[in-house]
Amino acid sequence: MRARRNLLILTLFLAATLLVCGLTYRIALGRAESDQRNQAAAQLQIAALDLESILQKYEALPFALGFQSDVRQVLQHPEDALSVDRLNRAFKTIQQQSRAVNIFMLNRQGVTLASSNWDEEFSYVGRDFGFRPYFREAILGRAGRFYGIGNISSEPGYFIAQPIYRRQDQAEGDLPIGVMVVKVDLAEFEHTWRSSSDPITLTDAGGVVFLSNRPEWKYHSLQALSAPVQRELEGTHQYADLPITPVSTLPPALQRGFGTHVSRPVGRLGWQLMLFPSQARMQRSAMLSAMAAALFMVALAISLLAWYQHRRRLQERLASRNALRRAAEELDQKIAQRTEELTAANQAIAAKYAKLQQTESLLRTTQDELVQAGKLAMLGQMAAGMTHELNQPLAAIRAFADNSVKFLARGQAAQVAENLEHISHASASMGKIIGQLKGFARKSGEAVAAVDLRQAVEASVRLLSSDFEKQGVEARITMPGPVHVTGDAVRTEQVIVNLLRNALDAVEEAPQQCVCVVLEVDAERQQAVLRIRDSGAGIADEVAPHLFEPFFTTKSSSKGLGLGLAISSSIVQAMNGQLSAHNHEQGGAEFVVRLPLLKTENGSDG
Ligand code: ADP
Repeated sequence: MRARRNLLILTLFLAATLLVCGLTYRIALGRAESDQRNQAAAQLQIAALDLESILQKYEALPFALGFQSDVRQVLQHPEDALSVDRLNRAFKTIQQQSRAVNIFMLNRQGVTLASSNWDEEFSYVGRDFGFRPYFREAILGRAGRFYGIGNISSEPGYFIAQPIYRRQDQAEGDLPIGVMVVKVDLAEFEHTWRSSSDPITLTDAGGVVFLSNRPEWKYHSLQALSAPVQRELEGTHQYADLPITPVSTLPPALQRGFGTHVSRPVGRLGWQLMLFPSQARMQRSAMLSAMAAALFMVALAISLLAWYQHRRRLQERLASRNALRRAAEELDQKIAQRTEELTAANQAIAAKYAKLQQTESLLRTTQDELVQAGKLAMLGQMAAGMTHELNQPLAAIRAFADNSVKFLARGQAAQVAENLEHISHASASMGKIIGQLKGFARKSGEAVAAVDLRQAVEASVRLLSSDFEKQGVEARITMPGPVHVTGDAVRTEQVIVNLLRNALDAVEEAPQQCVCVVLEVDAERQQAVLRIRDSGAGIADEVAPHLFEPFFTTKSSSKGLGLGLAISSSIVQAMNGQLSAHNHEQGGAEFVVRLPLLKTENGSDG
């Protein structure tokens, strides 16, 4: 995706560069062309002025020569050899002075009567130039001008001809009697043009190059000559009958520099002075401009790239900074959220803790109340037994008292004393029973001290002795010696009484009625272990899970409230112990109380 975009940009840039270079080239070429054209025009102007001034210089010469004294004499008497000779010499002198090529005079027929080269090899004297255009013009009374190659001397030259009239002050209707001609060499211009590196040509009205700093173009035409021009050339022998072909037919090497040109008319014969500015130079300068443009584009591209890179880096830095800030914000947010959650959780925990505390205190009060209620219930149950228990000594006391009254009446003091002793004994045992009851009914929790489990078991069994006797159940008690735990003696007894009572209930209808109490020490766990086992039916499966639930009972309302085990369990737990129950492998249920041993100096007192 990115690579494709880069490729596209590169392509676009290359296209733009090409376009800019192309445009620059075109514009620069146009500018160079116009510059060159201006330069060429200036150069041409100078050359043209030069040429014009030369031509001008010679323009009046043939006219002036017409005034030579011998001119008319020779024209009217060509046989006057003396005059001819004098004229020839005069012509020669003037030719040499004026630096013209030749000065000569023609008669009405175009035959040369006198000439500055009369004594030279190619003398014009006697030659007929009647076919030459300059003669034809001049004999008609007009100035004749012509450029051509001399058909005797074979040297090119510019011919200026003026008519000569019979009288010096030419009258109306006079016809020329002869023609005065001056031949001028224009080759010196070629020399001045040599310094120019660009081709310069002078062409005639027919488009034939007759002067040029490129000699190979001379006597060639710019274009193919038209038929009338060709015919005229043949008639005038202007270029000594040289075959005139276009420059474009020359070998390519010789054509070099031919093409676009700047031209300017010069002279009176429809000549054109032409300059051919170097195309290659213009192209070179245009190419240089195009290259400069290309260089500029490359520099532009580099700066753009640098700028783009810089901007990209900035953007990236900005993006990473933003990302960092976002991350920090997110982190802050998360921290705030977590803090909030934690605070909420903390508050929830605090609330739960408060509730728990509340529940705990509720539980504690409930437990206390339960303990109390259990005691009261037990008290109610015990009340009947107590009544029976107390009735016996009370009846005995009454009987002993009644008998004592009789013995006293009979004066049997010894018998009275014995009876009183019995009464005292019986009342003491009653007091003991009541005392126990009183201790049981007391709302406990205050006394935390060393408790001898053996004494607690004995007290409990004693408390229930009438029940054991009534049911004819034997309590088999196995106890090694004093086993001390920490706790409340009354409560401990309450637990044991409870368990013994349940055992008694369980064995009530059993064929073999037996309750075993075993007290032992688990030295390894530093615990006192009290096992109360009965020969009853055991704990039914459906009862087992609810055993320690308050108000769970399988007994009739007169017999049980379902609080005994719940209270016992909570008492044992309060003493850091455990109360558990299971069915013994030899039948019947076994309840096990485990309590931590009292820490003494010698470790154990079992
Ligand atoms: P209660 O004795 O008033 O019913 P407990 O909490 O002491 O209340 O006993 C709950 C129940 O546990 C009793 O109703 C009885 O079904 C069962 N249970 C207690 N001890 C024994 C035992 N030694 N043998 C069989 N079941 C027992």
